[in-house]
Amino acid sequence: MSAQIPAANPHVAAMSPYVPGEQPQGGGWVKLNTNENPYPPSLRSLEAIRAALVNDGAALRLYPSPDSAPLREAVARFHGFDATRVVAGNGSDDILNLIIRAYAGPGRPIGMLNPSYSLYPVLAAAQAADVVKVEITASLGVDIDAIAKCGAAVFFLTNPNAPLGVAFTPDLVRAVAQAFPGLLVVDEAYAAFADADCVALARELPNVIVTRTMSKAHALAGLRVGYALCPVGVAEILHRVRDSYNVDRLAQIAAAAALDDREWLDVTVAQICATRERLVTALRKLGWQVNPAAGNFVLAAPVSSKRAASVETSAHCFEFLRSRKILVRRFPNHRLTEKSLRISVGTEQETDAFLQAVAAWMEG
Ligand SMILES: *Cc1c(COP(=O)(O)O)cnc(C)c1O
Repeated sequence: MSAQIPAANPHVAAMSPYVPGEQPQGGGWVKLNTNENPYPPSLRSLEAIRAALVNDGAALRLYPSPDSAPLREAVARFHGFDATRVVAGNGSDDILNLIIRAYAGPGRPIGMLNPSYSLYPVLAAAQAADVVKVEITASLGVDIDAIAKCGAAVFFLTNPNAPLGVAFTPDLVRAVAQAFPGLLVVDEAYAAFADADCVALARELPNVIVTRTMSKAHALAGLRVGYALCPVGVAEILHRVRDSYNVDRLAQIAAAAALDDREWLDVTVAQICATRERLVTALRKLGWQVNPAAGNFVLAAPVSSKRAASVETSAHCFEFLRSRKILVRRFPNHRLTEKSLRISVGTEQETDAFLQAVAAWMEG
């Protein structure tokens, strides 16, 4: 008799993995599908990494700061927040996982807006936690009462929302936090591109966590750094369940340097927001149905003189763009997204290439 592979835990055997956006091999792609920043990161990040690698990289022999202390100080400076209430992670995905590991599980469901980030249900499934989805309304609003009564231990409110693009005001988020009898996680992956954020709510309210990533606005997706701004008691709990060295030495150093380069951030975010407005205006002019866009991406339903907005039209346009090596993203699983494409804001040149391909599709 040959040895059998032991069965995984039943809830793990039953779960499906997260499906990331395509990372195409080979060059020549206009890649507008995973909301990466189209510009290189702050030079200060590179200089910090180079400086850390002197003496043939001898510093790499040593473990990094276990609790990312210097990085947390940089986060605290950046937001005007208490460093003891900052937890750093291997991407904000790590932070989201720690929150679910610590606060959700069997009999303690998570809640989320639908549609929003499809990683939350995967992380919940890994902890045998159920998921309660609260639908975003047809007018792209939030049902505060439904969140208040959803029964979740932790609720994830993605703001600005991805993939819809719309932002909810801090006043609305405050009302949700006050009505919801659990932990409210405001996932602010895209807040740097929006008019407002909820950091003040994390500062004031006992049940609000704000999560941030260095992947989007800071152009460091490859580095994997994110963090939580949270109540001191929550920080203490998250530290218990994280890997003992969850952010590597080079990532800590480069992320801290990036946070201290506010000028780079202001210039880059302003450029991306200007390109976003140009893209929104151009697509509206073509008759496309475009959502309000507060992140570094635009959700828009393609139409042409021959094709009305539909799931099929969205798929047709997607494939046309793909044949021209322009990659965008589709979300066919929800009625608020199924007719649309999500287009990450690229460089000016990438945006021109996208708009030229769209013009060709409209004529075809
Ligand atoms: C990109 C994204 C994240 C993940 O950020 P990482 O720091 O790269 O793990 C989290 N939440 C939302 C809504 C995102 O779009």
